[in-house]
Amino acid sequence: MNSDAEAAYEALIQFLYRAPVALIQLQQEGAIEMMNPMASQLLMPLAPHGDLTNLFSVLGPYADDLQRLCAGFAASHGVICEGRRFNIPAPQPRAGAPTVLSLGLLKVDDGRLMAVLADVTQEVAREQRQLASRLASAARVDGLTQLPNRAGALALLQRIGQRPRHAADDAGALLFINLDRFRHINDSYGNEAGDQMMVLVAERLRSTLRASGRSPGDDTVGEVAARVGGDEFVVLLDRLAAPAVAERIAARLLDRLSKPYQLGGHELACSFSMGIVLVDAGMGDADADDLLRDAAIAMTVAKSDGGDRYVVFHQAMRDQAIQRGGLAADLRNAVERGELFTVYQPVVGLQADGQIDRAAGVEALVRWRHPLRGLVGPVEFIGVAEECGLISAIGEQVLAVACADFVGWQRQLGARAPRLLAVNLSRAQLAQPGLCDRVSAILAATGMSAERLQLEITETLAAQGKDIQQQLLGLKALGIKLALDDFGTGYSSLSSLHLLPVDTVKIDRSFVSAADTSRHHEVLIEATVKVARSLGMSTVAEGIETVAQAAVVCRQGCDKGQGYLYSRPLESAALLAWLTAPEPVRTP
Ligand code: C2E
Ligand code: MG
Ligand code: MG
Repeated sequence: MNSDAEAAYEALIQFLYRAPVALIQLQQEGAIEMMNPMASQLLMPLAPHGDLTNLFSVLGPYADDLQRLCAGFAASHGVICEGRRFNIPAPQPRAGAPTVLSLGLLKVDDGRLMAVLADVTQEVAREQRQLASRLASAARVDGLTQLPNRAGALALLQRIGQRPRHAADDAGALLFINLDRFRHINDSYGNEAGDQMMVLVAERLRSTLRASGRSPGDDTVGEVAARVGGDEFVVLLDRLAAPAVAERIAARLLDRLSKPYQLGGHELACSFSMGIVLVDAGMGDADADDLLRDAAIAMTVAKSDGGDRYVVFHQAMRDQAIQRGGLAADLRNAVERGELFTVYQPVVGLQADGQIDRAAGVEALVRWRHPLRGLVGPVEFIGVAEECGLISAIGEQVLAVACADFVGWQRQLGARAPRLLAVNLSRAQLAQPGLCDRVSAILAATGMSAERLQLEITETLAAQGKDIQQQLLGLKALGIKLALDDFGTGYSSLSSLHLLPVDTVKIDRSFVSAADTSRHHEVLIEATVKVARSLGMSTVAEGIETVAQAAVVCRQGCDKGQGYLYSRPLESAALLAWLTAPEPVRTP
């Protein structure tokens, strides 16, 4: 070796000597020939009685296969292992001492090895922290939309609810958003389309909030959207100058969300219902779960008001919701205890000479005799029955009782018995497979003829997808008549009437009650009658209360009428008396 080479070699040795990694030169069997200070620093605490003669004996308690690994390495040189980690279990003699070491072994030539040892305690700790935070954030992020999930939303909400607020111009709000008729999308286009829809909605929420220019800062939640359930989203707002700002943001969100969506080649129009809870200075600490529940309650109020709107929560809504909860439990018992019964409202034939035909038909309407509350009307409990899955049982009970009564009247009254029985069908019933079979079984069991039965569906229902149309056609195939109830209040318009497989259109009471005072309403009735007639459908005017209203609907050519003017809904015995009453009611 010349002097230059010697100097370079010396520099290398010095370099390795001072290197912040532990370097050890050893023999095949583990006997240590040489090591740098870093190596002795790392190994010394591990060596029993400070004996550092053999690396394998020092590391044996932590990695007992090293000797075998080296003996089994057949090649004359090469990497035996690299970055092999092993834990040094507690108790450690001193704080800050390594708890994880990493070992690399290199076979330099036959009989000689190099070992590289490093303290990776910090590195492992960092990795573990990263992993933990990844796991924690995964637990708080919705996998589908990448928005915070329910747990994430609750954590953020806790911060909004419990942040001290001293000024009136420092409000927070929670908006609870739910897609109207989401089940319809799932049922008609499949669950995958439903998922896709959620992604699109999330993106709309994100971009609308982004466009508002307010962004989350370090100590504030700002504006954040989260997905808290299947088709349930929330938007958290904080540091609002006034509670009214929340309503402005809500209105803008609703507007943006209800623009059409492109879904698998279809253009889909959706509406949304939104509940808003305001968090302001006067409220004190607000619990996240309570806020979420209250916002959800306000959302259901928005939905039952027809959807496509927002409703701001107030305390009375919570009391009503609790009452509805109680109602659901009571309703279950009511079905078993026979507290439900059916009343019948006559539907009269309107004749040109002002006479009425009393035997044209009746509509069955369900009632509940509640042991404590007294008589409860269907408007109060049909929705609850739908929510708690009792609607089929109730609907089929009403149908069976009404058919049996109807057949009984025919036997008793002959030609003076009603010729048509109308029974309402709820949306939940129509969505259930097997409906046609069950209806047909009830007809068979009661001896009712299908041609005499009219099932009434509401407009919103009739406007829905393919599966509902299929169900309606199934009922028609049995020979049953269909009526479109409450026409004028829902979605279908005169121009889409021809798409619906119905025989009769029932013009909603809201039109009839204004028929004699508003020219506009009279014109609507006239147009409805004309279009229906051109499609071969008959018309019924609902809710006729006065002689003047009766006169208008007669003039406009409605075929039948129903309302308190003729009769309120009656129990079966009272109906028989009404049908056979000697004095006919005349329409002037
Ligand atoms: P609907 O099918 O449109 O029934 C007509 C409603 O208007 C009945 O209310 C009836 O009592 C009321 N009505 C009739 N004439 C007049 C009038 O001149 N003035 C006023 N103010 N109201 C009048 P009801 O019995 O409370 O039923 C309300 C709704 O509940 C029904 O509307 C129907 O949609 C639903 N419903 C009733 N029974 C059942 C049922 O057995 N199953 C289902 N799914 N829904 C039912
Ligand atoms: Mg009806
Ligand atoms: Mg109606």
